[in-house]
Amino acid sequence: MGKGRIGILGGTFNPVHYGHLRVSEEVRERIGLEKILFIPSGNPPLKDLELASAEYRHEMTRLAIASNPSFEISDIECKKTGKSYTVDTLIALREMHPGKKFYFILGIDAFLDIPLWYHPERLMELTHFVVVSRPGFSFMRLSSRVAVDAEAFSALESGHLNVYRTVLENGGEVFLMNVTPLDISATVIRRLVKQGMSIKYLLPESVESFIISHNLYKEGSDHL
Ligand code: ATP
Ligand code: MG
Repeated sequence: MGKGRIGILGGTFNPVHYGHLRVSEEVRERIGLEKILFIPSGNPPLKDLELASAEYRHEMTRLAIASNPSFEISDIECKKTGKSYTVDTLIALREMHPGKKFYFILGIDAFLDIPLWYHPERLMELTHFVVVSRPGFSFMRLSSRVAVDAEAFSALESGHLNVYRTVLENGGEVFLMNVTPLDISATVIRRLVKQGMSIKYLLPESVESFIISHNLYKEGSDHL
């Protein structure tokens, strides 16, 4: 199914959770993608105390997707030292998979940040987009960014419309999609760990066990 169309979910995955997994599964089915490529980001040039190492985040993501044959992981960003830019990642992926169409999946929060990324206008030329709903962020906030009529925005907001497809001036497709609202974030998971609270049912058990056994996200932990 979906031969020729590959979904990409980039993120820090610090840690990966059911929000990422469910979003990817719903987008894959509804848009008809042959697979989803999870791309954990690399280590930043300056150490961030809250950020687990790229190796750990890659391993947690690998564990999380293991049971889904349509999910794959790419180490293209996390094997690099220093900053990696999405633009470079997409150029490399296009070379590795000639003839494929790429659909970059992101939550409304992340799509709103694109102007702050490296060479955003180039990025918009390299991939199509699927912008998914995320609790706390309204599709209306995209109104200055994508051409969508007011009626479609309210239908998306009210849940009467599940998917809206629009085309950018450069010919790129943008899908706006309502997905099952899962108010889960890695920030909250890290906070719960720090407070010694349970993170059960927010992420796969294999990832929970990994976090516990590697002592991640604890106050003053050296094992990030
Ligand atoms: P953090 O709180 O550390 O920023 P996060 O939960 O936002 O972590 P990221 O790795 O930053 O996770 O997110 C990767 C991508 O997944 C982003 O495009 C983000 O918008 C999307 N995403 C993450 N969680 C959800 C969710 N619960 N619903 C919809 N999209 C999500
Ligand atoms: Mg985030």
